[in-house]
Amino acid sequence: MVARLVYLLCLSFIFVNCSDPRPQYNTLEDYPVYPYADLGVTYTPTATTFKLWSPAAQEARLRLYDTDVREVAPHTTQKMQEVDGAWTTTVDGDQDGTYYTFEIKQNGRWLGEATDPYATAAGTNGWRGQVVNLLDTDPTGWEDDRRPAFGTPTDAVIYELHVRDLSIDPNSGIKHKGKFLGLTERGTVTPNGDTTGLDHLIDMGVTHVHLLPSFDYWSVDEARLDSAQYNWGYDPQNYNVPEGSYSTDPANGKARIREFKIMVKALHDAGIRVVMDVVYNHTGRTENSNFQLLIPDYFYRFNEDGTFSNASACGNEIASDRPMVRKYIRESLEYWVDEYHVDGFRFDLMGIHDIATMNDVAETLHGIDSTILLYGEGWAAGPSPLPDSLRALKVNTPKLRRVAAFSDDVRDALKGSVFNPEERGFVSGATDRAESVRFGIVGATRHPQIAYDSINYSSAPWAPEPSQCVNYVSCHDNHTLWDRLAISNPRDSRATRERMHRLALATVLTSQGIPFLHAGTEMLRSKGGNENSYNSSDAVNAIKWETKGQHATTVAYVRDLIALRKAHPAFRLGNTERIVQHLSFDKLVEDGQFISYRIQDAPTDQWSDIYVVLNGKNASRELILPEGTWQQVLDGSEVNAQGIGESLTGSLRLAPISANIFVRTAAAEPSR
Ligand code: CA
Repeated sequence: MVARLVYLLCLSFIFVNCSDPRPQYNTLEDYPVYPYADLGVTYTPTATTFKLWSPAAQEARLRLYDTDVREVAPHTTQKMQEVDGAWTTTVDGDQDGTYYTFEIKQNGRWLGEATDPYATAAGTNGWRGQVVNLLDTDPTGWEDDRRPAFGTPTDAVIYELHVRDLSIDPNSGIKHKGKFLGLTERGTVTPNGDTTGLDHLIDMGVTHVHLLPSFDYWSVDEARLDSAQYNWGYDPQNYNVPEGSYSTDPANGKARIREFKIMVKALHDAGIRVVMDVVYNHTGRTENSNFQLLIPDYFYRFNEDGTFSNASACGNEIASDRPMVRKYIRESLEYWVDEYHVDGFRFDLMGIHDIATMNDVAETLHGIDSTILLYGEGWAAGPSPLPDSLRALKVNTPKLRRVAAFSDDVRDALKGSVFNPEERGFVSGATDRAESVRFGIVGATRHPQIAYDSINYSSAPWAPEPSQCVNYVSCHDNHTLWDRLAISNPRDSRATRERMHRLALATVLTSQGIPFLHAGTEMLRSKGGNENSYNSSDAVNAIKWETKGQHATTVAYVRDLIALRKAHPAFRLGNTERIVQHLSFDKLVEDGQFISYRIQDAPTDQWSDIYVVLNGKNASRELILPEGTWQQVLDGSEVNAQGIGESLTGSLRLAPISANIFVRTAAAEPSR
């Protein structure tokens, strides 16, 4: 009721042009906010109500179709009436399965049919929405589906995966290649007997699978799935509909919904949470996007000359700061959580979104479940008309509430800048990146031993807590880590580059932020040097399962590091104060290729004294251990929590390019 009063007050301020029965607005900001949560379709078996918010429209109409075939004309066209600022109409009878579109008239002109932005189902290629009875889409046992147990963000080990990449390889042993259902198959193996797909994810021990765009995107033609097509999917079309090419039947709206849910349930049953990569910062099409055809201009930002602004470098940017856009994003995210049981979101180009919107959605989602994981790219791909101070840029992370940002600082400190492929990082020979790696180790937080004037891209700690920093060394963008090392270190042997690769991943997995792995990096994933494979072939993008056996040492290394992290709270102390209290660095060595630190008395950890030593130099070197008796549990190629070799005192030789962990043994300290 309060919302309705506010709404009526808003309406009373609108300038009404008496020659036109519809209100006219001087600016987009004058549009009245629609306060209710019923935009789109409200289905019942006896009638379906359609609602479209578009205040400046002069007329609106609904078209109903028996089919998603675009050449087939509508069987019904129905005028919509404006009620409470939204255009609405009700169609009697059971409309389950009916396809539909909206169209509006503005400035005396009908703008063309478009799909309801709130559509929950769509036909082939998303050109028409579809009314569906969502109850029919629940798989068996859906009501018992539960999020796997999860503590705080730094307990996560995120695995970034493209749906198709996991299963499309001929050696995957997976039946539903390239499909949501491909993530549900158990017992799949390569011809050599190595586990693949979901079983591999379980073996690795990752806590979260982060799926590249899996909402309905534009670029893959769902009408010809028998031809080879590929796209990452950063060209959104229907935000609340799963992508059709990952379903077994894109024409049947229920199939893609049900199969997405089956996937979520299979992952949940396996103890793995699901993060969706969401792209609310721009739409795939611009002038003829659903938003632009139905609510012209409102969803976008513009330059002063009236052209679309383009902070996404994809032709447009979404005006997240407008109230009805913010409401749209919030309701869309809520929908994925409620209907699909999604456990987290990664915000593409989060730096385009305004801070207030990010905090609004964080508050809403954490109100539903406080363990929902939220993180994003704290940058944009071009200039935005919205001032930097208002946007969710990495530097503004302290203003975000429980939303994390990717650390490009540690990413490029470890391997060199992604914008300069020949550049080297700490693991590949650079002598000036150690301080930035240490910044990554503390999860971009404030620590008295970090020299913030020596960090590659930051001059201050930008994460108030380590749970607001995502540590990584590679992702779907740019070269894979393995390809990158081949470019930056062409004269080094393959074995040497494998050591670099493992040192980089060991650093990420032992650091205090949220660790994030690019799928397949554990088997030295290569895309054949392709730097931007967004529309490249399966041959480039697929996870090549025969490489799992070829790189068994590194696969086991990463798997065991994940287990080590999960078993030892010392590597995920969880808050800044604890890091300051328990983690202390040794002085940096002059050559800049060596980092060592100690974690002492970490709460609840069985190991009370841990010494982590990262040797970035391609040479063995002497390490003098702190006082006491120590047991090595990690070296450059092996993890063994029970101990590698004999216990140690005094000094030892460290292997070239290696991560090392030593644990002070009980024999040398009083029992507690
Ligand atoms: Ca699509």
